[in-house]
Amino acid sequence: MKVSILGCYSATPRTITNPTSQVLEINNQMYLIDCGEGTQVQLRKHKIKFSRINQIFISHLHGDHFFGLIGLISTFSLLNRPNDLHIYGPKGIKEIILLQIKLSKSYTKYNLFFHELESDQSELIFEDDKIAVYTIPLKHRVYTNGYLFKEKPGLRRINIDAATGQNIDVCYFNKLKQGSDLKQEDGTVIENETVTFDPLPTQSYAFCSDTVYNEEIIPLIENVDVLYHESTFLEQDIEKCIPTGHSTAIQAATIAKKANVKNLILGHYSTRYSDINLFKKEADTVFEPTFLADDGLVFKF
Ligand SMILES: [Zn+2]
Repeated sequence: MKVSILGCYSATPRTITNPTSQVLEINNQMYLIDCGEGTQVQLRKHKIKFSRINQIFISHLHGDHFFGLIGLISTFSLLNRPNDLHIYGPKGIKEIILLQIKLSKSYTKYNLFFHELESDQSELIFEDDKIAVYTIPLKHRVYTNGYLFKEKPGLRRINIDAATGQNIDVCYFNKLKQGSDLKQEDGTVIENETVTFDPLPTQSYAFCSDTVYNEEIIPLIENVDVLYHESTFLEQDIEKCIPTGHSTAIQAATIAKKANVKNLILGHYSTRYSDINLFKKEADTVFEPTFLADDGLVFKF
């Protein structure tokens, strides 16, 4: 699992920082999460192939999380993208994007699908044979979702030494990978676990930005491998959290601890602070390991 941070600061783009956008690479597939202004430039800087992005997940309709979307959609069209593009986001996102496309007469040649969200309960919004994506309802100033990406268990793996030792023909390997026992001609049964290994362990990633401290998300993100949780403020500015719909580093770390996650990444820092290391310092008092997102960083787990 690889997380490329394209941008992780709140509010306006600056010469030295970018608003929220990141690419999650899991099971050889890429998913773009949020698309702040300048995301397409950041994708180019990271040398991420545009053609590998077929799903975009938008958390909410504040500009620092989706103002880059129309630009990216337009560039995909100029590049004669052949693939379909699926966009998941709050109800209203289709109207915003289609209005811009309609008035600028810049219809896309590829198929553009919108999956609008309005439930305040977690729901399964995408799945294929390798991954499932669920919403994580968040509490912010507008309707907002985080996203949980969960790998599905793969096939069992053949223990070649054990299988050849039992003279099992390769034509039965698929059956074994699916978990079945093998009945031999003489009636004896070879139990699956004696000739296979468990599937490789699966991984999970939870993206939670923007939100106030909200313990209701804990059951949804329990035991995830990596939690990205916003931490807009330091403790000295905690009184700003409720009116703005944001969290502090310590609040993010508290959620990580209570949900028993394996790793925490902080991001969405207010640009009022010149030293983001203070976010880690505060979070470390509650939960470890905590990592600081920063534009251009790539995390591998
Ligand atoms: Zn916001």
